[in-house]
Amino acid sequence: MTASFIRHDDFPAFVSAMIEAGPVYGPVAKRSRFAFERLEAPGDLRLDYDVTILPPKKLFFPPAQDLLHFDEAGFRAPLEPVEKVLLGVHFYDVKAIDQTDLLFSERNCDLNYMAHRETTTIVASNIQNVFHRAFFASVGRNVFPHGHDAFLTAIEGGYVFETRTERGEKLLALGAFEPATDAQVKEAAQVNAAVLEQCPEKLESGTREIADKVRASFKDEALWTELAEDCFSCGSCNTVCPTCYCFDVQDTWNVDQVSGQRTRFWDGCLTEDFAKCSLGEGACENFREERAARFRHRIMRKATYLNVKLGGPACVGCGRCSAACTADIADPVRVINRITAS
Ligand code: SF4
Ligand code: SF4
Repeated sequence: MTASFIRHDDFPAFVSAMIEAGPVYGPVAKRSRFAFERLEAPGDLRLDYDVTILPPKKLFFPPAQDLLHFDEAGFRAPLEPVEKVLLGVHFYDVKAIDQTDLLFSERNCDLNYMAHRETTTIVASNIQNVFHRAFFASVGRNVFPHGHDAFLTAIEGGYVFETRTERGEKLLALGAFEPATDAQVKEAAQVNAAVLEQCPEKLESGTREIADKVRASFKDEALWTELAEDCFSCGSCNTVCPTCYCFDVQDTWNVDQVSGQRTRFWDGCLTEDFAKCSLGEGACENFREERAARFRHRIMRKATYLNVKLGGPACVGCGRCSAACTADIADPVRVINRITAS
């Protein structure tokens, strides 16, 4: 919609004004890593982060979320979404949010997710430091982020603030913005293009070829057994992934045995019990009992199964799974390049 410029010296006052207007979440330092947390002051914000430990999906889809509370009188949803700003999201995480928006709004719309999502203004920001396992430049190259309301790019002397929606436009009233010049907009575009050249990891093939070859490898049991040999089934690769969205629902009763809550928790397809189903009368079946089958399932989901529905792969190249895997076997680049090379 519009492109504005704010000087570095005026930026903290803009962040302060947003914090005064309502909750603002952004990347903050956590020892040597970063996490999306509620900002208390502009100085907390670290737009120079490389990647956050968990993706920003946790704001819309928390790791543990009460879906309803019940007692003798009936049940009620504890959902109380508040208007908030999510500041400093890298474009690959916006792409992941776009995917989750689609998956949680089609058919049986997930009201718990959408209520938080619809009350959030997202301000994306350029990547100032590239994570050492990232490969966002070579995955889903033709898929562009669209769920953000504004995009902030650090350039010489300040930031270019480009709005996409009315929500983004409203934020302009909180800062000392001036219209961006053509030269500043051009500089911002160059900054965002240049970062694509800095990814340390790279997929060697395009989306279509990857999808076809990964799918064709499905029955290569020797390959998947070897790739999954060191897997602990810990599920860390699922937990940190911005495009994973599986969950488990549990009912718990309070000591009075009449009231309680229904809660959903993040779940992950790499864990041993993920595919365990009850057959009734104490019997159960685990339809993905072998770790090779679970490892294969994750890669199939990321590289091929969802491509048609999403318009691209269900991986945005953040590199979080690669860094989170103790055995260092989860990296989609290594797995996929191995398959496409054979
Ligand atoms: S599969 Fe790994 S690299 Fe791809 S989006 Fe998930 S965490 Fe990021
Ligand atoms: S691939 Fe790595 S992170 Fe994922 S479950 Fe196996 S050991 Fe854990």
